[in-house]
Amino acid sequence: MSEREGTLTRRNLLKTAGAAAGAAALGGCLSGDGTDSAPSGELSTAFGNCWMCSHNCGQKAYVQDGTVVNLTGVDGHPRGSAGPDTEGTLCPKGLAQLDKTHDPKRIKEPHIRDEDGTLRKVDWETAFEETAKRLVAFAEENGSETFLDATSWAETSIFRTVWRDLYGSPERISRGIHVCAGPTFVTGGMMGVGSNNRVPDYQNSEYIIAWGRNILNSFAGQFEAKGVLEAIEENGATLVTIDPQHTITAQKSDEWMPIEPRTDGALALAMANVIIEEELYDEEFVENHTYGFEAYREAAAEMPPEEAAEITGLDADQIRRVARGFAEAAPQAGISVWTGTAQAGNGWKATQNITALNGLVGNIDRPGGLRLWKYPATASFGQVCEEDYTPRAEYKEPALKKYDEYSDYPVRHIEGIAHNLVPEMVDNDHINGIVCHHDDPLKDGNADAWIEAIEAMDLVISIDAYWNGVSRRADIVLPEATQLEKDTLGTGNWSAYPNHKWITGSKAAVDPQWNTKPDFDILTGIADAMAERTDNDDWTIFQQWDSHEEYIDDQLSTLDLTLEELDSGETNYELLEEYDYEQYGEDFTFRFDLDQVSSFATAAEEAGMDTAPEWISPGTYGDSTSEEYPLEFTDVRSVFFSHGSNQPHERLQDQFAKRNQLSEEDYRGNYLYLHPRDAEERGIETGDLVTIESKSGSGDLMAIVTERARPGFVTSQYGFGQTSAITTGEDARERSADGMNTMTLHDTQMDPITGQVDRHIAVDVTPAGGD
Ligand code: SF4
Repeated sequence: MSEREGTLTRRNLLKTAGAAAGAAALGGCLSGDGTDSAPSGELSTAFGNCWMCSHNCGQKAYVQDGTVVNLTGVDGHPRGSAGPDTEGTLCPKGLAQLDKTHDPKRIKEPHIRDEDGTLRKVDWETAFEETAKRLVAFAEENGSETFLDATSWAETSIFRTVWRDLYGSPERISRGIHVCAGPTFVTGGMMGVGSNNRVPDYQNSEYIIAWGRNILNSFAGQFEAKGVLEAIEENGATLVTIDPQHTITAQKSDEWMPIEPRTDGALALAMANVIIEEELYDEEFVENHTYGFEAYREAAAEMPPEEAAEITGLDADQIRRVARGFAEAAPQAGISVWTGTAQAGNGWKATQNITALNGLVGNIDRPGGLRLWKYPATASFGQVCEEDYTPRAEYKEPALKKYDEYSDYPVRHIEGIAHNLVPEMVDNDHINGIVCHHDDPLKDGNADAWIEAIEAMDLVISIDAYWNGVSRRADIVLPEATQLEKDTLGTGNWSAYPNHKWITGSKAAVDPQWNTKPDFDILTGIADAMAERTDNDDWTIFQQWDSHEEYIDDQLSTLDLTLEELDSGETNYELLEEYDYEQYGEDFTFRFDLDQVSSFATAAEEAGMDTAPEWISPGTYGDSTSEEYPLEFTDVRSVFFSHGSNQPHERLQDQFAKRNQLSEEDYRGNYLYLHPRDAEERGIETGDLVTIESKSGSGDLMAIVTERARPGFVTSQYGFGQTSAITTGEDARERSADGMNTMTLHDTQMDPITGQVDRHIAVDVTPAGGD
């Protein structure tokens, strides 16, 4: 039933019946029907692989009476320790998996929205049948190619098989490229070093630059923080942090470069200027392994340190000192770069210029430099599948490439979809449905338009553990088991073992709580129901495996391992084949100039961008500050929370408030950090509730006035507000935790090449009148 077709629409239904339905659904969640009697039985142990930030730190779970009572790390684990014979630990997010597993606020039963708009509990058989029925109807009415797969981090690899190959949708939002760090990942691939250009070989480094990264506070697997500290202690490594904020990593650094936001591209070129002028670069590597050096040399020549100092607000002597230090330590010099420089309109050029420094000093795949990490080869779905099937999305063109409506967006040459453009595509009838799997796009950009889009879609399926902005509005809600209730397999690359491929696995530590299922079982349940309804044998494809464990064992067959073998014993990981440095060979080419990459060259021409490194100033793409909105805002991550998926945990909220010295306040939302100068001008003090406003939206959160914030620049953590599981209002759209969804400030601005959300927004801040 479409909003565009009739009077009784999903949007109307949601507005009229949503509150009652949501209240019924959430009432059960909040009543806390989990047992509150203390476990008393025998204590056993099991393993897990933390998936809260998807980086697989090994867990040892202590289980009593089917309840996880304690969690620790696994000694020597590739992601959770500093390497052999070192203690494995878990960060606050990882430890909170214990809370998440038994959290009474979880979604406990499958739900289906009735024709009258009520979201009702159903059993799994009904849920699968209804899902298949609505998917078939959707394909008939709209075409399956208008169904969007918004899977974030599934713990199974079969989700693409279900939505792309079997159902037939080419549309997918990839968290990595579209909402995380598209410019970093994609430039790395085009320049020749792959998307892993973001994690250097820390332990062997003598000079580490944390470029827009707070490694000690928001690490991707704890080996990163441990690797940096080990390099400092063992190698006497120099640590440099380039960040507008005085972060925890900046506090530990030898040099802090408090850079003006979005000017990283100018700093990188100025460093190249010094390194080239002073002939500190690796001539042999540049001569034999790079392409486009002359174009790079010309761009760098136009950015002497004095000019970069004007642009970046940094000191020219410091720029020279860091450039020399980095080049002289090379190849044992690594740059850690990820989201900080990528989530901006000029993020493509920032990351291209930064990545170019690696080629210039020749640290590619050398100890302590930019490591070209390798994965172990597990068997792919195609290799383990014993049946033939027809991949249905193979010849379908994503809408962004197919229709003229999007001809103004250069991104269409590179990526299939852009997160911020989905609402426009819904409006154009090119996207009509979505499956959100452990993801909440309402907090990833263009939030208000996304809410409208979700309500206008003909079919919304939510596979999640919590009620959030999407699951509250969904037609079908399938309650997902959390990570400790699932079998897991991790096939990592970067880790505390720079010379080994590795693998980690674990069987579920406890049974799925309440009436929930692991994602593998949910996807195969949908497939079986589709097989019944469509008489299409392709959908029976998963029936060759009786369990996820069997499927994992097939994936492990190339390594002559089983999940049982990984999971038993003292640890739950194995170090595999050793690999050396400089494996790239004679023919390897590092590209400074990307004119050889035709898709990029076309997109760059349309965007008015050079193919070689260059300086592009803030505001060329995206917001500029103004008299009305004089402050620059961007949101950041916290070590306590992950993408909104654990924001409902009260223990984490308390820890977060305590870390910010505001635990005495009732407030448990995100905080706005601003400089004393900006606070004084507005009559704001720490603990005040303030309103932040952009041209697109506004919201309230609590202020922290701190010298660690740069004047003119304000930040907060994302993932809060209306996406959370905590309810405070009557209407579904008002239900929220304290704090705000920072992406209500945002609209369509993005990096024009990858469509990566540009999170730098011009705002003003005023007192909200509370404290
Ligand atoms: S860094 Fe923390 S959240 Fe991420 S996988 Fe490791 S323990 Fe889990």
